[in-house]
Amino acid sequence: MSQTVATGKIVGIYYTLKDGAGHVLDTNRKGGKPLAYLHGKSALLPAVEDGLNGKAKNDFVQLTLPPEKGYGVRNDDLIRQVERKLFPPGQELAPGMRMNRRLQDGRVAGAIILAVGDEHVTVDENHPLAGIELHFEITVCGVRDATAEEVAHGHAHGEGGHKH
Ligand code: ZN
Repeated sequence: MSQTVATGKIVGIYYTLKDGAGHVLDTNRKGGKPLAYLHGKSALLPAVEDGLNGKAKNDFVQLTLPPEKGYGVRNDDLIRQVERKLFPPGQELAPGMRMNRRLQDGRVAGAIILAVGDEHVTVDENHPLAGIELHFEITVCGVRDATAEEVAHGHAHGEGGHKH
């Protein structure tokens, strides 16, 4: 009897993520190696893990997630004016560039530059996939029990999983 996806299982998947217009945003089908993760620990978006519950090897799952169940809605408060002098001298700044900015509390925020002025740089710190309807096409390519070590670490080891 083949195993089915449930909390505590190591699940291998191939996935393709498209936006509402059918553009491929991300896929691991071309690399030849499945992604392996520990189910039930929010390694994936919760709505994606919900959609995989009870599935077995070779099952194909299509999921459409509104932004609220994906990477959130866009928040205009996350479009910020940053003083240009806070950027390192000589750093190239241009609209469309992605950057990581260290916040005062030490966290690193990903951002995209929207505009560059003499005094200020306008950056958008929304998640790149915020506000986007997500279309997942997922093939389950393996389900197995997690080892005690994987449970202790909270992630999958081995092929497609965490490397130490
Ligand atoms: Zn580990």
